Amino acid sequence: MKIRDKLSIQFTVLAASILLLFCIMIYYTSMIQLRTYFYKQLYERATTTAYTYLEEDALSPEVYEKVRERYVRTLPQEVAQLFDPDNKPRFTKPVAEVAYDAETINYIRSNHTFPSYYEFRKGKVQSVGMFYPDNQGDFVVIVSAVDTVGRSHLNNLAWILATGFCLSLIVLFMTGRIFATQALKPIPKIVNQVNNISASSLYIRLDQGKEEDEISELVATFNSLLGRLEENFNMQQRFVANASHELRTPLTSIIGEIEVALGKTRTSAEHEEILHSVHKDALTLHELISGLLDMAQAESKKLNKLLHPIRVDELVLEASMQMEKKYPDSVINVNYALTNGQDADFMLPATRSLLLNAFINLIENAIKFSADNPSVDITLTATADTIEIRLQDYGIGISKDEIDKIFDPFYRSEAVIAKSGYGIGLSLVKRILSLLNGDIQVASEVGKGSVFTVSFRK
Ligand code: ADP
Repeated sequence: MKIRDKLSIQFTVLAASILLLFCIMIYYTSMIQLRTYFYKQLYERATTTAYTYLEEDALSPEVYEKVRERYVRTLPQEVAQLFDPDNKPRFTKPVAEVAYDAETINYIRSNHTFPSYYEFRKGKVQSVGMFYPDNQGDFVVIVSAVDTVGRSHLNNLAWILATGFCLSLIVLFMTGRIFATQALKPIPKIVNQVNNISASSLYIRLDQGKEEDEISELVATFNSLLGRLEENFNMQQRFVANASHELRTPLTSIIGEIEVALGKTRTSAEHEEILHSVHKDALTLHELISGLLDMAQAESKKLNKLLHPIRVDELVLEASMQMEKKYPDSVINVNYALTNGQDADFMLPATRSLLLNAFINLIENAIKFSADNPSVDITLTATADTIEIRLQDYGIGISKDEIDKIFDPFYRSEAVIAKSGYGIGLSLVKRILSLLNGDIQVASEVGKGSVFTVSFRK
């Protein structure tokens, strides 16, 4: 069911329930009021009847019956009866339609002495009874009548309320529908706009409109999602372009060298020289592809399964040793920070190969971009809930406008073009750390060196 229909039905049901309750209340209170008013009238009639028969002793009942009927206004289908102490009708003849049982008469006699009176009802007939002690004897007077006027008023009221209720239902449903349509008006437009967005048109943004409501909030959220998607998509495209370019360079060189080798008959010394050159290019290609594979592995979402508890400090020491072997001139100092007597705990759930790769990249960069001072100071700190690894070098540093770009894939500073590398290392480090819930911060000053701080929450 569409939201518009759902909303208008819900609105109608709610409003109709309130209206129905209101109608029932009106009908019920009117009925009680009419009934009470009629009982009052019956009481007056009962008083008149008692007075007429019992107080005016001198007149005969027939004469008073005539007087009563002629001068006193009677009620519809009124029947007045007096019962003597033996519960026999006196002065009046018993009326079959309104026969009262002895139990009721006795009850009135013992509980409702005039001016108190007893109200009771049997079907349409309402009655009032009271015990009237008199010098002629003690009598129970009961007057009954049918409130035809009240009933017709009530019927009219019921009809008006029912018709009003039905008409209101229609009006409520229609207005509910109009309101719902009005409120959801922008949605079909949005659906239309979204349908026009494809991978090649991620630049399109939805029209947010002038209203500041939930729908415009939704549109704003969707637009920001589109923004992120577009940026990601562009990044992927740049990545593929850069990766292809980087891969093509050594490949083109290999093809060129092989063509040169095949161009004419060569001496074995020349062949050896060409093979050396091809080997160098093939190594470059191998390194690049390994970097890309590492990146693909880091992107893998199944990483959670590969997490094991690892001592981060041992991993840093291992990375330092590997780098010292690769760069024998380098000086790498690994120090533990003082932790106020607490036992430093460097255990962390991580993927060993990935994290080792990250530290190797960071240490290698510190050495590669060290100018003439290839020394790195690494400080390890573990608190109750964090682990921090601070890598300080004294190299060429990074300028302020480049510091945000160094984590982009294939980004390399102009200043380091002469050094080996493909610009993959730091983007890989960043990706690995984000997968392991770690963080990396850089502070650097050109000509003085850089500090890379890696931190993890335990
Ligand atoms: P690569 O090392 O292959 O150039 P990276 O992604 O590791 O690629 O680094 C990207 C760029 O960040 C480097 O080209 C360099 O300009 C800069 N950079 C990284 N680490 C350092 C550092 N310790 N000191 C100075 N510059 C650095």
